[in-house]
Amino acid sequence: MPDATSPSPIDGIARRVASVWGIRSRRMSEDRGITGGQNSGPVLVHAAAAVDARGVIAPAAMVLDGGEILDLGSPQQIGPVAGGMVLDAREEVLLPGLVNAHCHLDLSGPGPVPPESSFSEWLDRVLALRGDSTPAAMAKAVEKGIELSLAGGTAFVGDIAGFPRRPQLDALRASNLGGTCFPEFFGLGDRQPATCSEMAAFLRDAGVKDQAVRCGLSPHAPYSCGPEVIRHAVAHEVPVAIHVAESLDEAQFLADGTGAFREKTERLGAWNDGVVIPGSHPVEYVLELLGSHPAALVHLNYIEPHHLPLLADSSATVVYCPRASAYFGHPSTGVHQYREMIEHGIPVALGTDSLLCLDTPDRISVLDEMRLLFQRDAVSSEQLIKMATHWGAQAIGEDPSLVDFSTGSIGGVMALKSDSGTPTLDEVLQSESIPRWIMPPQMFS
Ligand SMILES: [Zn+2]
Repeated sequence: MPDATSPSPIDGIARRVASVWGIRSRRMSEDRGITGGQNSGPVLVHAAAAVDARGVIAPAAMVLDGGEILDLGSPQQIGPVAGGMVLDAREEVLLPGLVNAHCHLDLSGPGPVPPESSFSEWLDRVLALRGDSTPAAMAKAVEKGIELSLAGGTAFVGDIAGFPRRPQLDALRASNLGGTCFPEFFGLGDRQPATCSEMAAFLRDAGVKDQAVRCGLSPHAPYSCGPEVIRHAVAHEVPVAIHVAESLDEAQFLADGTGAFREKTERLGAWNDGVVIPGSHPVEYVLELLGSHPAALVHLNYIEPHHLPLLADSSATVVYCPRASAYFGHPSTGVHQYREMIEHGIPVALGTDSLLCLDTPDRISVLDEMRLLFQRDAVSSEQLIKMATHWGAQAIGEDPSLVDFSTGSIGGVMALKSDSGTPTLDEVLQSESIPRWIMPPQMFS
């Protein structure tokens, strides 16, 4: 397993492309002595196919220049490009850099860990593993997560930052990834006013806009945050992410205040006289608190059929983490209803959750979630690319045009081979291949 200090294969590729284009990569220029130069002209890429959420062009010719797509079409339509270099990807499929709509990069330190018999026990284990949450340790874990994300073809993340939060945001902002950092907050009952003040102060200090990585908010979950905290978070009108209906223990706690999560809440000292049990299902409860505000609802492992129209009528985006759900055995009552959600017109993005749950120690990427759903559930590649790009962007408050091949700015372009040698997205999703960046993410503040 590579550790955080070993050079990633992405570095060599990124460096090469950057030096050709004079890409102003902050990380590369600061850490490796490469300075941004004059753009050396357009690059023409010939590929077996270019696939994005809008469709497929096969074969494809793409003209890139200085972080932008100038043109895309068939090789006949595009023809030669005067004065530019030509990249040969005729054995590969081009994809936009992907959106990992839910990750915990600050949990990348320990690497994958085996599942426990209960979620509660697993949480205890994670807290013990995470142990050292000094600013330096958190920043280091996020930096490892960033390298692994780039190695898997990720351009944008919706990253949850646990305590102390700010080092994780700063590490992301110093990277080439774009997206949203969601600092995570807890607060039940009497603790709510203090948590609301803390959220407001964090946003004020962090700065919300004019950054490649914007700052959102994550009230952790409806069993760990009271209604005031959730309402306060969405009132700030920044991207919001909440873990919802992840486990049956959560549903029980919200229904009548009993069960494993009650015990856990008391043990952690979070229970107090001001806690009011809503007596409703997590999905209904959270949707009522959100009103018309958008939010990313993460997991939704346990929903009832009548929640589908409620979700469809809301402004929420669902984030499904297929490998994480499978790792914890969710939903234990059947299969995840992400396909029913999509049929009801609900956008469903893909997330990885933390590296702790993944079977890919060398990368953190929703490419592997796409592969799981393609192979396990026979979901079409057209649907999967939409989940991994446009709907992911929607979940984290990003501009969807940065993750498709429309002309103009793009978050990154990568090329993938298939194990069979047939360069189609279907074959890539049957394969184990690792992406190579044709144009790496290059976020500017
Ligand atoms: Zn999570």
